[in-house]
Amino acid sequence: MWIDEGDEVITVPNTFIATAEAISLCGAKPVFVDADNRFHTMDPQRLQAVMSPSTRAIMPVHLYGQPADMDSIMEIAKQHNLPVIEDSCQAHGALYKNRRVGSIGAAAAFSFYPGKNLGAYGEGGAVTTDDEELAEKVKMLRDHGQRSKYYHDKKGINGRMDGIQGAVLGVKLLHLDDWNNARNEHASLYDQLLAEVEPVTIPACAPYARHVYHIYGIRVPQRDRILTELKNRGVHCGIHYPVPIHLQKAYSSMNLAAGAYPVTESWAEEMLSLPMYPELSNEQISYVAECLSEILKSVV
Ligand SMILES: *Cc1c(COP(=O)(O)O)cnc(C)c1O
Repeated sequence: MWIDEGDEVITVPNTFIATAEAISLCGAKPVFVDADNRFHTMDPQRLQAVMSPSTRAIMPVHLYGQPADMDSIMEIAKQHNLPVIEDSCQAHGALYKNRRVGSIGAAAAFSFYPGKNLGAYGEGGAVTTDDEELAEKVKMLRDHGQRSKYYHDKKGINGRMDGIQGAVLGVKLLHLDDWNNARNEHASLYDQLLAEVEPVTIPACAPYARHVYHIYGIRVPQRDRILTELKNRGVHCGIHYPVPIHLQKAYSSMNLAAGAYPVTESWAEEMLSLPMYPELSNEQISYVAECLSEILKSVV
């Protein structure tokens, strides 16, 4: 099976655009379901309503390093005989009920963009699967659709990763769990320091998840003002993401108006990513929490 023109793939609008682009590049149409209000990953309860005879796959995103609700998603996929493709690009090493993400669905995508939990010294990425036939297809597509040299079964791309990136990643992979543990410790300290800071909502960790905190995202009113104030104090934060996919100019032809995915849209207005990387010190985290608390007293 190939995913092609006229096909549909279900995903979330609350993600980096690459998730939807992967679908569009096949000529298929991304069909969105809104996120869960607590964990910000795909809401499995909304899947049934968007199923159509053209649906070919479901692509949840393990957003911010937190696995999506895989049992529920896999169950619905099974009922409809659809493969699940895990967008694991933010969740290297994360666990869903003690299983690594990327080993649950039919296949999974990982990005090694330098900013990821496992980052190369340039561009890179990988697909994981335990299906040999699928692995052969992926290898073919990344090398211009070649079955063997100069025999092209499919229009592919140049997706060959530099060997030097593989060498770097092979060394860094050995440290991934330690780095993810450090991120978890930082997240706990943030949780503790921000628990009493009103009106901040700290990120919720799902009971089934070993989160790897690619992003530590809080919810806060007047987010843009707070972001500026933090910047003035030397604390650089991010927004993941300011514009949901269905409201991006690139997807304007889908004619999806504001209001189509309210959970995603309200989150986009209030989410703020605090500094998060393994090398952060407790002093730095305390400074961020202090600044935030001080700013909130004067702004909100
Ligand atoms: C980083 C990322 C990707 C892939 O990005 P590339 O630029 O292709 O490496 C895909 N999905 C999500 C959710 C991501 O964060």
